[in-house]
Amino acid sequence: MLKKILKRTLKRTPLLIVIAIVIVAVFGCHSAPVALSSHQSAHGFKLYGNFTKSQQETLDELVSILPTTMINAITFIAKVDFDEHFDAGEGGHCWPIGRICIRGYFITDAGTLWHEIGHAYCFHIGLKGLVLGLKWEETAGEVYKGSEDWTNYYPRDGLLTGYGRIAWYEDMAEFVSEFYKNITNRESAFDSFNEKTWEDGRYKAKMDLLLKYGFITEADYQKFWSTRK
Ligand SMILES: [Zn+2]
Repeated sequence: MLKKILKRTLKRTPLLIVIAIVIVAVFGCHSAPVALSSHQSAHGFKLYGNFTKSQQETLDELVSILPTTMINAITFIAKVDFDEHFDAGEGGHCWPIGRICIRGYFITDAGTLWHEIGHAYCFHIGLKGLVLGLKWEETAGEVYKGSEDWTNYYPRDGLLTGYGRIAWYEDMAEFVSEFYKNITNRESAFDSFNEKTWEDGRYKAKMDLLLKYGFITEADYQKFWSTRK
């Protein structure tokens, strides 16, 4: 009897497997990310995710501070509300071709947004971005450690923040966001600068690279120096 049941079950195994796959496919994938709804930003790129009207307005306003060349580097900005999408401590990230994801609760955070758009623009300028990388590393010297450093007080070593300690491209993106925070009267890493800090020529040299490669306009560059404390 047992043998018979076993034989019958084995015979039906392929069918049972198919049924199991169908059940999993229909009912079992609750953890899969749902497709994000999309709409258009005032600047023409796509926005994905659940934006409130005020969040979208703030984001559009923050983006409009940047030069058009940088805005054109954005393909989309996604407001991603599930934490599993990000590494621990990551507020956002940018994939090549200007695809930016930002954690829901950072979506209107100026610093996070400008930092990621800095990456997007660097990807956008292609070969020039790679040349910038070489020049930036040459300017910075042997300061990058591949990880963040929050054990020291910043600015130091030509870096603005402990996050910039990771690699040249994070340092560069930190310069972009801190620069725009400064010229829009937000708190920035430049607030704790003094004459001694400026004696380290790497800070100005990096700002000059941002100007040369189009991350900042001549007018904003002048504005920065005219308000320097
Ligand atoms: Zn970054």
